[in-house]
Amino acid sequence: MTARIIEGAPVAERLRADVATEVARLKAEHGLQPGLAVVLVGDDPASQLYVKSKGEQSRAAGMRSETHLLPGDTTQAALEAVVRKLAADPGIHGILVQLPLPEPLDETPVIELIGPDKDVDGLHVVNAGRLVAGLPALVACTPTGCLELIKATLGDLTGKTAVVVGRSLLVGKPVAQLLLAENCTVTMAHSRTVDLPAVCRTADILVAAVGRPRMIRGDWIKPGACVIDVGINRVPFDDPEQAALGRTKVVGDVNFKEAREVAGSITPVPKGVGPMTVAVLLANTVKAAKLQAGLPA
Ligand code: NDP
Repeated sequence: MTARIIEGAPVAERLRADVATEVARLKAEHGLQPGLAVVLVGDDPASQLYVKSKGEQSRAAGMRSETHLLPGDTTQAALEAVVRKLAADPGIHGILVQLPLPEPLDETPVIELIGPDKDVDGLHVVNAGRLVAGLPALVACTPTGCLELIKATLGDLTGKTAVVVGRSLLVGKPVAQLLLAENCTVTMAHSRTVDLPAVCRTADILVAAVGRPRMIRGDWIKPGACVIDVGINRVPFDDPEQAALGRTKVVGDVNFKEAREVAGSITPVPKGVGPMTVAVLLANTVKAAKLQAGLPA
């Protein structure tokens, strides 16, 4: 069997088009322009690319977009002052501080300052708690994107067995909660899980959010399973000549070549989960704007 490839771009494009339509309606009917502020500390080139793309895509959807680029030696107090100002700005409905922050900055008080209503990354404890409680919440972008791709591929998820490898607050935990809310039977695996291959083999839906290149092998996958690879890992090129030149490429947490021979469907890396993350960020900003304006989300 060769797996169906789950491309993120078309699903993300549909979502962005819906967001643009909703932004136009909010402007016309309520004079409301959703606004997103992205804060980046330091000059990591990959983060700079993400931030640029977030700004471009939010403007393309008709939203207000602000990017705050702060130097790598920014103090905790200076970062908090920027976030406090954005939190008080009525024209900004969503604030995203690009993580991880450079040492020694601490993200916890920064997320607290963003507050639950503008927390479009879904990291505030109130949003994490609301998700667990089954209440309306701003949910982390990548997990929401994963769920959209799974639902677009499988339809109704009721009764399916799901295994999520990774238990971070940003990805693993919210993905597991979202799958539970869709009536899956969910197992969360992590670095202390005993016999991870056997656990993975139980999964109708396998989500890998680990950060270890190609860790999940083909024989860990149940034939026909839906495999969602969240991992973004930079590795040297397979070709030794290219590798010697220091050239790298991005691979996922799943050994794609092996897995596609066993799985029913699988996301590629790149171009699988990645494109969904920014599209959901825009959707979350619109949702936050509506909630802040007292409109039904
Ligand atoms: P974290 O490092 O926060 O979490 C990794 C998780 O993997 C931890 O729970 C850890 O377990 C678990 N883990 C580590 N090693 C193993 C192992 N050998 N076996 C089983 N589990 C293991 O990472 P994130 O959740 O933030 O990100 C995961 C991956 O997803 C990364 O590659 C990241 O780049 C990517 N990512 C992609 C995004 C996208 O838009 N596509 C967005 C966000 C992240 P333990 O808790 O026991 O330590």
